[in-house]
Amino acid sequence: MEEDLIKRRPFVLRAALFLFSALCSLCIFALFAMWLLVRPDSVLPDHWNPTRPLSITAPVTPVTHWQLFLAARDEAACRDVLARAGVGFSQLKEFTSGEHCGIAQRGSLSTLIGAQVAPVETRCSTALRLAMWEHHELQPAAKAHLGTDVSQLLHIGSYNCRKMRTSRGTSSGWSSHATARSFDITGVRLSDGRRLTLLKDWEGAGPEAAFMRQIWRGSCRWFRLVLGPEYNRLHADHFHLQTTGWGLCR
Ligand SMILES: [Zn+2]
Repeated sequence: MEEDLIKRRPFVLRAALFLFSALCSLCIFALFAMWLLVRPDSVLPDHWNPTRPLSITAPVTPVTHWQLFLAARDEAACRDVLARAGVGFSQLKEFTSGEHCGIAQRGSLSTLIGAQVAPVETRCSTALRLAMWEHHELQPAAKAHLGTDVSQLLHIGSYNCRKMRTSRGTSSGWSSHATARSFDITGVRLSDGRRLTLLKDWEGAGPEAAFMRQIWRGSCRWFRLVLGPEYNRLHADHFHLQTTGWGLCR
């Protein structure tokens, strides 16, 4: 028994030494990473730095969704990100109505970065995801398919104190519209004067339908649940863009 222990000791010692040096290397690496990320004159660009605030117009990197997550849950940070990008989102006092309805982080959205919006009350986090979608999907798709910009986003609102609607009627659960965590888009007006709607332009083989389908797919990158004409007849005339959910995109 005693002999056994003596034989095993060098192995235990070697393992302990290995563990110790691995821990030391990890500490040195962590300190270096912290130094790189946190120092104000970091050489790492902000859109690659998870400790820096989101910029809507910065290139999208693997860090962008983390920055978006942080900005969306902190009202002051969210308002700051929108203001720096020139999004028109004036602050309103938040309110609650009953047990299930109300708007936190409340404001009135009147413009995104390039597109006007008929003024609408919503949450800051909803406006923020809309602005990301506009800048990274909507405007590039308009340029690519239609050779112009989107000058106005057409919508049917965000806040609505109601229960969920399904194709079989009203469900027992509360809609994400009851807390303004959703936004319903019906179409766009283009800088050249054309007006595109889901009802008129979703089907077909032309560039208008290709544009519609691209912005629908693109919205799934910035919202957690997206329902459109492919989902059911209730969504034949609008995209339902929701900031909460588990990735359903139809
Ligand atoms: Zn909706």
